[in-house]
Amino acid sequence: MKSRTQLLALGAAALLAAGLPFWSTDQYQVHLASLICCYWVLIAGLNLVVGYSGQLSIGHVGLLSIGAYTFAILSGKWGLPPFVSVGVAGALCGFCGLLLGLPSLRLPGFYFAMATMAFALIVGEFALAQGDLTGGGVGLPVPSFPAPFDTPVGFYYLAVLGAVVVSVLTWNVARQMYGRGLIAIRDNPVTAQAVGVPVFRAKLTTFVFSGMTAGVGGALFGSLQSYITPDTFHFELSLFFFVCIIIGGRGSIVGPFLGVAVLTALPEVVAPLAKLGNFFYGLLLLLVVLVVPEGIGRVFELFAQRLRPRNSASVPVAPDLPRLAKAIAAIRAVPGEHPLSARVVTKQFGAVVALDQVSLELRSGEIHGLIGPNGSGKTTLLNLLSGYYQPSSGAIQLRGEELGQASVRRRAQLGVARTFQKPRLLGTLSVLNNVVLGAWTHVEPGFLSTALGLPRVARLDRVLTDQAAELLHGVGLSHAIERRANLLEHAEQRFLEIARGLAMRPSFILLDEPAGGLSNDEIEHLGDIIRTIREAGIGVLLVEHHTDFVFRVCDRVTTLDVGRMIRHGHPEDVRTDPEVIRVYLGA
Ligand code: ADP
Ligand code: MG
Repeated sequence: MKSRTQLLALGAAALLAAGLPFWSTDQYQVHLASLICCYWVLIAGLNLVVGYSGQLSIGHVGLLSIGAYTFAILSGKWGLPPFVSVGVAGALCGFCGLLLGLPSLRLPGFYFAMATMAFALIVGEFALAQGDLTGGGVGLPVPSFPAPFDTPVGFYYLAVLGAVVVSVLTWNVARQMYGRGLIAIRDNPVTAQAVGVPVFRAKLTTFVFSGMTAGVGGALFGSLQSYITPDTFHFELSLFFFVCIIIGGRGSIVGPFLGVAVLTALPEVVAPLAKLGNFFYGLLLLLVVLVVPEGIGRVFELFAQRLRPRNSASVPVAPDLPRLAKAIAAIRAVPGEHPLSARVVTKQFGAVVALDQVSLELRSGEIHGLIGPNGSGKTTLLNLLSGYYQPSSGAIQLRGEELGQASVRRRAQLGVARTFQKPRLLGTLSVLNNVVLGAWTHVEPGFLSTALGLPRVARLDRVLTDQAAELLHGVGLSHAIERRANLLEHAEQRFLEIARGLAMRPSFILLDEPAGGLSNDEIEHLGDIIRTIREAGIGVLLVEHHTDFVFRVCDRVTTLDVGRMIRHGHPEDVRTDPEVIRVYLGA
């Protein structure tokens, strides 16, 4: 729904853009519109980096200037055909993005921002110092494009074309699997990892893409300016790009486009604002951050929601078990016929021994309860099984093979899904999209095929979306499918996490205190859901404090106390074990 509104807005903008030279009598307006388009070619790519994957690059002006200089040197000095030079500029800047991103995208946010800033400053100094190549402080003339793009109006259409192309590419990325993965990286990297998003690779790919659009944008921008010096690419321009996206709103495409259009045009149209310069940008940024912190793109989204019937009344979660069973059967990969096991694992955190020589074996089609007082190491064991921690000694095995250093993502792909003690959802995504995200584990969407809008990617997206919807109907969240996940009640969040885990097509699903904070009725529903999961042949680890519940639904139970296993076996045997009663149940 949201995407359709955005698409309509984009279509209207395209029509308006196409007609501009006809109704505008002022050459300067055409120039201004061309400038907006050139900026947008860069910002559209940067938007995926900043607005979607949440990486704060403030140095894109460096890439813009490399693009412009490359174009000026190749076409102006060396006589290469302009369109070839644009391609080279894009490729070179993509490569620069790779060189810059490889080391710096591993850094925490603040350091990454600093690294991109340093990059921009270095590029500026380099342009100044390499006088032979760049003309130093004097600068370089930049050639125009061949006919019919050599007039202002001709160039304008070329710039519009560039803007439309990047809009479509980024649009395709944003609204499909890949874009949801990026948002996961931005809002909750732990979740992203849990559902199998290759966090670093996706960040890097997106950054390289933004380098390419910056290079192309730079070539167009340079040509529009017709003469460039290092001063053309002042650092404030970089901040300007960044501000356009923040004002436009993270996770939106129309928003940042409006951001750049308004921020570029307004000071020109309303003359007094031009005098205010950066003060005006600062004021606007402050206003947006205070009044609509999610950006002007969000205003549109809210507007679109207002047009829809509101249905946010709280509805009790009521699972539809036959439907859930069918939904699981429809997506189930090969059932894990072999166990997932921890073999005499010990886990130490400094002096704390969180787990001391614990063994546990999860089998397909069984519910295995794990109980014990707070701090007894239950979550730690779950983290070891799912790969968040490595054991200090001992081994984790799946189907008889040691998992060794296998990452969280790899384990997810091998069929180990989990939920979190405190639900980790992506609040700005819809409930449905939260669940679809689980499918990353086994589909691995490619950036290029997504950006190009290949039909098979779109088809797959639809199939996965339908499967996710079925899972949601199954766990009883039919009423909330289109809702933003941050509007969910606590119980709904828990059930959503389970649906997401199931979308990962797990052989084993590890549930960390899923009954925490649920009412008695909801716990009953949870029990039904877990039994249905078991019937589908999935192995369940149920870490829980509600012991009645555990003894009721589990096939086997393990009890931990301060990292040691004190009893494991049949629920009935564990429940009546004197030691278990003494350390845990009796309390
Ligand atoms: P439970 O889930 O049974 O309540 P945990 O597995 O969370 O217990 O914790 C077991 C012990 O390990 C606790 O003493 C806790 O403080 C410690 N612990 C868990 N994770 C870490 C960590 N990342 N760093 C240091 N100590 C930890
Ligand atoms: Mg815990």
